[in-house]
Amino acid sequence: MVGKGRPKTRIFTLMSSATSNMLTIGIVLLVFFVIRRRRRWYQRNKIDQLLQTRQVDYDSLLSGYNPYYKSLAREGRDRFLKRVLLFVQSKRFEYIHMESQESMPLLISAAAVQLTYGLDHFLLDYFSTIYVVSNKYTYGLTATPYEGHVSQDGIYLSWVDFTREYAEYGDGQNVGLHEMAHALTYVNFTAHEGRDPTFHDAFVHFSAVARPVYERMKAGDTNILNSYAATNYQEFWAVCIETFFERSADFSNRLPELYTALCTLLNQDPLTTEKFLKVPTT
Ligand SMILES: [Zn+2]
Repeated sequence: MVGKGRPKTRIFTLMSSATSNMLTIGIVLLVFFVIRRRRRWYQRNKIDQLLQTRQVDYDSLLSGYNPYYKSLAREGRDRFLKRVLLFVQSKRFEYIHMESQESMPLLISAAAVQLTYGLDHFLLDYFSTIYVVSNKYTYGLTATPYEGHVSQDGIYLSWVDFTREYAEYGDGQNVGLHEMAHALTYVNFTAHEGRDPTFHDAFVHFSAVARPVYERMKAGDTNILNSYAATNYQEFWAVCIETFFERSADFSNRLPELYTALCTLLNQDPLTTEKFLKVPTT
């Protein structure tokens, strides 16, 4: 009889400790939820204010530099611009060997939003920093200058090449879209932070069409895609994206199955004004 009280006390102590732990977890989750709600409210408020005061300026800037944005109808432009402002607010922009300008984060964010326009998850969450370099740069052990690259540290872009290649839209060369394409697959398959479940799950269907085209290119076949696509499958993907947006009609005519697979994967067709296949939920 003497010993029976001790296990009861121990059980009671364990139960009260478990209750206390659950309470602590509950409070932490509640605080996290409240902070997130407040941050979102603050973001929405800030974006509404920016749209009220600067929408005409932003519309003019994006129409002048981004042909995809220019091709959207009024409603689509509003939606695109809101996404751009959310993207800008979610990133830190670091400028290397150059002075920052207000247009830089907007135009770079527009390249990401263009790629992810049909997806629900468009913030490429894993990447908190975008590095804007004044011109081409060398990186790692290679002597060849880079126009951009994506690593676990962030997204890097040469500003001179970014702007030139958007100015020459239509030739299938676009470092902004190219690096955002790498960033999108990194987020979905390497980092898993900011993953879009629809994109992630549909990629296997895209690859069923894309892999044979890639294998033929590796064996020496040529097509509408830049030969750089034969380097490896990651580069094939990024080159597909450049061509999909910049030479949509030619791509659709010459590689129709691959073009349709990209439309399905990204839930958009650049040849249409509305772009979406299905309206995204966010
Ligand atoms: Zn690449």
